[in-house]
Amino acid sequence: TLVMGIESSCDETGVGLVRDGKLLGECLSSSMSEHVRFGGVVPEVAARAHLEAMVPTVRQAVERAGVSMSEIDAIAVTAGPGLATALQVGLASAKAYSLSLGIPLLGVHHLAGHVAADTLVHGDLPDRSVSLVVSGGHTSLLLLGDLARDPIVHLGDTADDAAGEAFDKVARILGLGYPGGPAIQRAAEDGDPDAIRFPRPTTTRWGFSFSGLKTAVARWVDRCEGPLPVADLAASFQEAVVDVLTAKAVDACVSHEVDTLVIAGGVAANSRLREVAERRCADAGVTVRVPPPYLCTDNGAMIAAVGSMLTSVDAPWSPLELSTDPSAPLTRALLSRTRD
Ligand code: ATP
Ligand code: MG
Ligand code: FE
Repeated sequence: TLVMGIESSCDETGVGLVRDGKLLGECLSSSMSEHVRFGGVVPEVAARAHLEAMVPTVRQAVERAGVSMSEIDAIAVTAGPGLATALQVGLASAKAYSLSLGIPLLGVHHLAGHVAADTLVHGDLPDRSVSLVVSGGHTSLLLLGDLARDPIVHLGDTADDAAGEAFDKVARILGLGYPGGPAIQRAAEDGDPDAIRFPRPTTTRWGFSFSGLKTAVARWVDRCEGPLPVADLAASFQEAVVDVLTAKAVDACVSHEVDTLVIAGGVAANSRLREVAERRCADAGVTVRVPPPYLCTDNGAMIAAVGSMLTSVDAPWSPLELSTDPSAPLTRALLSRTRD
């Protein structure tokens, strides 16, 4: 079964083609550079860029996959969460392909896509796993069964900022630009992670909170006289985030007797997070799975991966009346909400 996945929830127009869990080809078009001078993604600018990029991105992905449009068996698309107008462009395009090719439409939860990305390189997920989803808008510890079939259990979420959001805001405080994650990682390479002991804020056992940490960095910067030790600040902030994320993720695995941790989302691209997670998981006897960095941030392949899982269990199709759900809660991989 050949599935085309379409992603447009933020500033990347992504299209991927997956056949029976194998990635055949993909294409990504980003409007990131258009948002840099605003310091964040401007929804209407992103939506217009999706509209312009969609058809060429589909054509390019199909060409790279070495398939023809008529071979595609189903269209998977991000129906939420994300920016409303950006999501609408992807969903309308997916509906058009579904109608014109006469094939099923599958509305997919964006975060299920982040998790599923890992299967494209590491194969099927085990029957049970814990997932740490760390992205620009979300930070959650999840207990997973069969991603295509079972409800998703939230062990904990962030009470305020997402991990990626914290990276982006601290990067702005340190004058490192947007997006902040890669910039902080780069700056941290020359810094000492133990230079400044920032707080490791926490809420519930598996819940997170990052806004206090961001404020702690801001206050440290405000009080600093003389030149800012940017590298030490970046490394110490990054260490605080990584420490909390990995400690809680490993604890969640151990206490639920789960032997596999899947780390997903844009922040999973962070090299220090990957390093510490590997060490702590190895110590706890947990196998850690993290997709390669290009599959951690938004892309179309991950949406096709969910579509491929859904078709393999004969999940129901989404209705053509499917509507976008900008704040869709993560309870299932398949979204089928229609406007009442
Ligand atoms: P969501 O998936 O919650 O809707 P999003 O799609 O905007 O949000 P992603 O594309 O998953 O988010 O990830 C983007 C986030 O990942 C940004 O906050 C970015 O700073 C962060 N990020 C990307 N690379 C790195 C890195 N190397 N280290 C830390 N953070 C990173
Ligand atoms: Mg992005
Ligand atoms: Fe994302």
